[in-house]
Amino acid sequence: MKAKHGILARIWRALQRRLGAKLFLSYLAIILVGSLTLWWATQWVAPAAFERHMGAMMRAMPGMMRGMDPSHMGNFFESFRGAMNEALLWATGLSVLTAAVVSWFVTRQVVAPIQALSQASQRIAQGHYDERVAVSGDLDEGVLDELGELAWNFNRMAAQLAQVEEARRQWLADLSHEMRTPLASIRAYVEGLIDGVLPSEPQVFAQILDEVRRLQRFVDDLREVSRMEAGALQLHREEIPPQELIESLVRRFQPAYQEKGVDLHTEIAPETPALWVDRERLLQVLSNLLDNALRYTPSGGRVTLRMAPEGEKWVRIEVQDTGVGIPPEHLPHIFKRFYRVEPSRSRAHGGSGLGLTIARLLVEAHGGQIWAESPGKNRGSTFIIRLPVSKKK
Ligand code: ADP
Repeated sequence: MKAKHGILARIWRALQRRLGAKLFLSYLAIILVGSLTLWWATQWVAPAAFERHMGAMMRAMPGMMRGMDPSHMGNFFESFRGAMNEALLWATGLSVLTAAVVSWFVTRQVVAPIQALSQASQRIAQGHYDERVAVSGDLDEGVLDELGELAWNFNRMAAQLAQVEEARRQWLADLSHEMRTPLASIRAYVEGLIDGVLPSEPQVFAQILDEVRRLQRFVDDLREVSRMEAGALQLHREEIPPQELIESLVRRFQPAYQEKGVDLHTEIAPETPALWVDRERLLQVLSNLLDNALRYTPSGGRVTLRMAPEGEKWVRIEVQDTGVGIPPEHLPHIFKRFYRVEPSRSRAHGGSGLGLTIARLLVEAHGGQIWAESPGKNRGSTFIIRLPVSKKK
């Protein structure tokens, strides 16, 4: 008894796990209810109705039943009931067959795509981000049903996951690559000191300190980028007159420019309105651009810091130099993290490769835009920023 119960329970559990079986069972239930209702109607409703109709017919055509034995009426009705029951049996059998065919068809149409989705999501959970499900049609053309839409969105989600995973891998590869150079150089200095190949002189320690500072700057920049990308940046906006901004930058950069022999020139259009920005953050962006301009402009060159209104809502800031320039194929990439036009030169200058990425994130956080233009190699470059003007007028 218990074993029987166990088998039934197992079958029930197996049925519960199959959508196709559930569909078939629900069709069967409907057929069963329909057949029982019909059977009940034949047994209980049909006799009275039959008598009523026969009575009416006899009244309408009195000659028709003449000579007929009334007891034959009962036989007549029994034959009718038998015919009805036979028809009902056939109808039920055919309905069950139809239900089986329909549920098989619906199962193929509905369950197969769901099974495919389930298998694909399992593969993705195991880290196979290239897994996709077949979709016949296009969501944008509006020719997909709900299951097609689900598959379409599933594929989009999988593609997004693959991208995130790729970005994560790239981050890790870039990070280890960026840290390897300063670490190798610190190691070489320290080993040289230990082996006595290098003298224990302040100059050597200063070089080690330089590398440590570079690593420190790199780590600080990294933290800044990840904070900004996580949306954790808080801007403290205030109204800043352009003149004040330029003066503060010139004060900060003039000594370094003079030392290298690069002319720092400023041009402010008199009608330039006040900016609505976070002072420290904007100074950080412009300092970065002025730093780069100085770094990539040989002595005797010139850097111009320009500010002018652009339409009613924007202020345009330009940092133009007469330096090494940027070849056009590199222009779309220089704001990406760790991107360098000439990696060895940039690293030798101590750049983290994150300066322009930070500048872009900060400008975008202000609702502005930043881009670069350059006529080509050794023909200078211009970095352009558009920022919103102050709302207080
Ligand atoms: P880095 O710290 O290496 O300077 P950035 O993000 O500040 O990194 O700049 C990315 C790259 O863009 C630099 O490596 C350099 O190749 C190029 N670049 C930036 N500013 C200039 C400029 N003013 N002139 C020429 N190239 C520039």
